[in-house]
Amino acid sequence: CGIVGYIGAQNAYPILIKALKRLEYRGYDSAGVALISDNQQLNVYKTKGKVSDLEVFAAQKDISGTIGIAHTRWATHGEPCQANAHPHYSESENLAIIHNGIIENYAVLKEKLQEKGYTFKSSTDTEVLVQLIEYIKVSHNLDLLTSVQLALHEVIGAYAIAILNRNNPDEIIVARKSSPLVIGIGKDEYFIASDATPIVEYTDKVVYLEDGEIAVIHRGQELKIVTQDNIAVNPTINTIELN
Ligand code: GLU
Repeated sequence: CGIVGYIGAQNAYPILIKALKRLEYRGYDSAGVALISDNQQLNVYKTKGKVSDLEVFAAQKDISGTIGIAHTRWATHGEPCQANAHPHYSESENLAIIHNGIIENYAVLKEKLQEKGYTFKSSTDTEVLVQLIEYIKVSHNLDLLTSVQLALHEVIGAYAIAILNRNNPDEIIVARKSSPLVIGIGKDEYFIASDATPIVEYTDKVVYLEDGEIAVIHRGQELKIVTQDNIAVNPTINTIELN
């Protein structure tokens, strides 16, 4: 039900937790976070329950890293439980995804992936999407952006997604269709959220991603936005008026 992300020079974890709390008003049943740690591990921590339960769960774990994504879930496919909470890993555990929305044709896609030998740890529609992206990436030896674009062509449904790639600790890829997603532009840092509420304390410069758009958020680089068919879009940067 809520999506947040951070990439920059600060420790991501406290920023992500604070941002999830700002989105608590939207309601949720589970919460989770994925971080690429200072020693290049892709760590996922998730729990059923409140954001405060996630903090307890992650307390003794490695929460280092200046890049991360986090999620509050409102279950649509699969009961609320730890396995179904987001983020979800791909088969190789090189990719992690968070997702708000519904992948309507997930059952057909899941069957195809299972025939290729993919195994599933959850009963969510979301895990199917990250597995599909990895399948396309690995089988055609493509970069992550192209794999996301091709995967989204096969997907019917609504989504705001954010993806981390363990092998690229400087980049988050996000996409949306029928679910909201806002990108905050700070000084050498970016914030991602379902709405501007968690972002305004850091920056008043935001880009509202439009339906069908995919953003490549790269550390130290300008924001890159493309369509599913890889047509470049000039980001419209809005200034939020604070009163
Ligand atoms: N359909 C996904 C699930 O059930 C995402 C739900 C959400 O928007 O939080 O896991």
